[in-house]
Amino acid sequence: MADIHEECGVFGIYAPGENVANLTYFGILAQQHRGQESSGIATSNGVGINVEKQAGRVDRFTEDQISRLRGGDPQSFMAIGHNRYSNTGSNIYENYQPFVIETVFGPLALAHNGNLVNPDQIAKRLKDAGIEPKGSSDSELIALLIALECKSQPNFEKAIAIAAKCLIGSFSLVIMTRDQLIGLRDPWGIRPLSLGRLNGSHYLLASETCAFEALGAKFVQDVKPGEMVVVSNNAEPICCQELTQVCNKLCIFCFIYFASPGSILYDRLLQTARRHMGESLWVEHPVIIDDPHKWIVCGVPNTGGPAAKGFADASGLEERTGFIKNPYVGRTFIQPDQRLRELGVRSKLQVLPREVMRKKVVVVEDSVVRATTSLQIVQALREAGAEEVHFRVTSPPYKYRCYMGVDTQYSKDLIAAEKSVEEIRRHIDADSLGYLSLGGVIGAINKEKYAQPIPPDCFCSACFDNNYPFPIPDEQGRFVL
Ligand code: SF4
Repeated sequence: MADIHEECGVFGIYAPGENVANLTYFGILAQQHRGQESSGIATSNGVGINVEKQAGRVDRFTEDQISRLRGGDPQSFMAIGHNRYSNTGSNIYENYQPFVIETVFGPLALAHNGNLVNPDQIAKRLKDAGIEPKGSSDSELIALLIALECKSQPNFEKAIAIAAKCLIGSFSLVIMTRDQLIGLRDPWGIRPLSLGRLNGSHYLLASETCAFEALGAKFVQDVKPGEMVVVSNNAEPICCQELTQVCNKLCIFCFIYFASPGSILYDRLLQTARRHMGESLWVEHPVIIDDPHKWIVCGVPNTGGPAAKGFADASGLEERTGFIKNPYVGRTFIQPDQRLRELGVRSKLQVLPREVMRKKVVVVEDSVVRATTSLQIVQALREAGAEEVHFRVTSPPYKYRCYMGVDTQYSKDLIAAEKSVEEIRRHIDADSLGYLSLGGVIGAINKEKYAQPIPPDCFCSACFDNNYPFPIPDEQGRFVL
């Protein structure tokens, strides 16, 4: 239950004859964990694009909205959807996605997962062309830039590719014109995007493969960094390397925390990878077991669950459910002050005293970012009667801010940027504290039996090692690397 969040999920489907509005509803519902501040669906019937967007989760969509999206005559045959978690731009309607804008080639709808580090450059280019965005999100800038490029390019694909060459940052885009579904991934490969197939001949794009599972669709392939996938005319998708691939650095936090345990990344089921992380934690940071009956292992829901199982399996200790997570509590992170944030954590996570009382508890968590949650967890366990609390974390210390779409805005908010492991242990009042090393995380991901090993340079791990995949701006917005 890390106090950081992914930014957004995207989905697209090209499926003539199917109810694409409903399928998109279920596609973004499966990816709801990627963002809950707003949701939106846009559909095309070949004549025009309809869009419905609203604050909150996708299950707030009404039957009227879905019926409008289905279209009349002709019916919609293509759709894109978006779950938003705001990193740039406030939570106002103007920032909700998909964005639908007019271009010289007709309407275009765009959904974006990621974060640009050069939005000021893009905004200036648009301003020079007399274009003002309505909202404050970098995603709208991408849509407007594509529309601008449409004026000088022969078609949508070219305009999208030329616009994308100006973008620095992470972007997995799902774009819909009146008759094409287009996916594009940034040339650094930071955010995931996969292609799936439904009923043999219909195609889907999604941030996570759990969306394919939800629809009974089959995974086809990951979209490569810099690759554009175009689906149209009921034909096979056309894949083209529109941007030169710089590297392939998928965010390692997707494996540790962000992505659904039911998703597959780099051919690994994340539930299994997380269980292996728990096993590796036991190897790197065991506890000294005096009386085994005194000890239990508890995962912090939800991601800590499989890792706790791995730790328990490897150590032989009993695994117990020490916490219940209340799924109806929203973000604790944006509460206006520390006291309310702490209350938010408490209402989100309930300790079960009868499970932990008079026990030495190993708590397995995915990360420690600000340590607000970690401190609360230790305090709650002690109040519930735990004799000792040993904190284990399935990631290295989170020291550097993320510029690629995760809401760690300032390094000063990251406890590991300021304090040593021992100081953090004292701060959260744990009896011991152990972080899994970066090598341990990658080793656990590579423990998957039937998959090819993934080299360490195929992951972004900048928040742990300060090794950013592209130049990042300094305080004045200048690029320093
Ligand atoms: Fe993911 Fe960290 Fe890289 Fe951000 S800095 S993309 S959170 S690994």
